[in-house]
Amino acid sequence: MALIVQKYGGTSVGSPERIKNVVRRVAKYKALGHQLVVVVSAMSGETNRLIGLAKEMQAQPDPRELDMVVSTGEQVTVGLVSMGLIQEGLKAKSYTGAQVKITTDSAFTKARILSIDEQNIRADLDNGYVVVVAGFQGIDKDGNITTLGRGGSDTTGVAIAAALHADECQIYTDVDGVYTTDPRVVPEARRLKTITFEEMLEMASLGSKVLQIRAVEFAGKYRVKLRVLSSFEEEGDGTLITFEEDDKMEQAIISGIAFNRDEAKITVRGVPDKPGIAYQILGPVSEANVDVDMIIQNVGVDDSTDFSFTVHRNEFDKAMDILKNKVQHHIGARNVVGDNKTAKVSVVGVGMRSHVGIASKMFRTLAEEGINIQMISTSEIKISVVIDEKYLELAVRVLHKAFDLDLEPA
Ligand code: ASP
Ligand code: MG
Repeated sequence: MALIVQKYGGTSVGSPERIKNVVRRVAKYKALGHQLVVVVSAMSGETNRLIGLAKEMQAQPDPRELDMVVSTGEQVTVGLVSMGLIQEGLKAKSYTGAQVKITTDSAFTKARILSIDEQNIRADLDNGYVVVVAGFQGIDKDGNITTLGRGGSDTTGVAIAAALHADECQIYTDVDGVYTTDPRVVPEARRLKTITFEEMLEMASLGSKVLQIRAVEFAGKYRVKLRVLSSFEEEGDGTLITFEEDDKMEQAIISGIAFNRDEAKITVRGVPDKPGIAYQILGPVSEANVDVDMIIQNVGVDDSTDFSFTVHRNEFDKAMDILKNKVQHHIGARNVVGDNKTAKVSVVGVGMRSHVGIASKMFRTLAEEGINIQMISTSEIKISVVIDEKYLELAVRVLHKAFDLDLEPA
């Protein structure tokens, strides 16, 4: 007998028919003698609908009241799933985040989980109940309802698995696992049987949307055994997220190609090469809450240098405006130029730590297609380049092939 947490995303509970599907899977696991906690998202489209309603009342909805509204989506699904289970003859009980007592901080719309009181859940499980918990929500110390940020039900699932020391946390979604790259771009993309936490974290932050980043961080920190599976397929092992040191299998050098279409590049030219300049450039940008991704400063020549960085395309105009009006003259830079038609492509793999030549292979592959690299950044397990967005799909395809990702590992 195992204790399993199953988390179902919005599409998996998108209609009564689909909820019945979830009920059948839960019943199957229960019949095998397992204890089950089911964490669910709102029905697909519901959270967006609720945000839309809120915006009709208030252009910038009050954060506390917004959480009051959007947290209702999940409350509907937990009740429906429990009814389905009861209809099947199982014992089931639903909980909101507040009823469990998932305590969070008070950062409305992006709260962080502080603690989970797992006693009631445990008692129910011991009494043979399937426990159904609303994802995405919690309660702060003053009793306010909070939500965990978009996609936050993944984090609820992982956090509950951590609190209960569950044997496995299964994330059911509309894809059957984590792929070497987006199959819509490369049809030969393969499902990975395993991927390490660090790789998954890179993939998630580089634009792969399979799991919420925070959920992956949480699972890594508390060593939750995490698996991504399809809720639309009866069979299949999905992708298991592993710990590098436990993974005795020979790892591929490169596990995947991630990409992000929404990158915009900004360069401040001819900035004085002296202490404090990076801060004077990026300080005002971060004060305006603009997230900066890649940052590159050139080696100075004649006491001046160029400073480039990337931002999300939606924030390009805002960032350009700040630099031109608040920074350029203040620091005595020559000019500010930008390009919002760029994209980022990354190769990710823990094998990079022990293999040389990955970067040169990546650069040669792009050179052979005549693709110009505008920026490069690396970490221990990834190499990212910024290129013209019109070559993005080509770049992903040729890199996928060059690193043999379309071949089943030996
Ligand atoms: N319903 C929330 C959202 O759409 C949380 C989730 O689905 O994970 O973002
Ligand atoms: Mg989701």
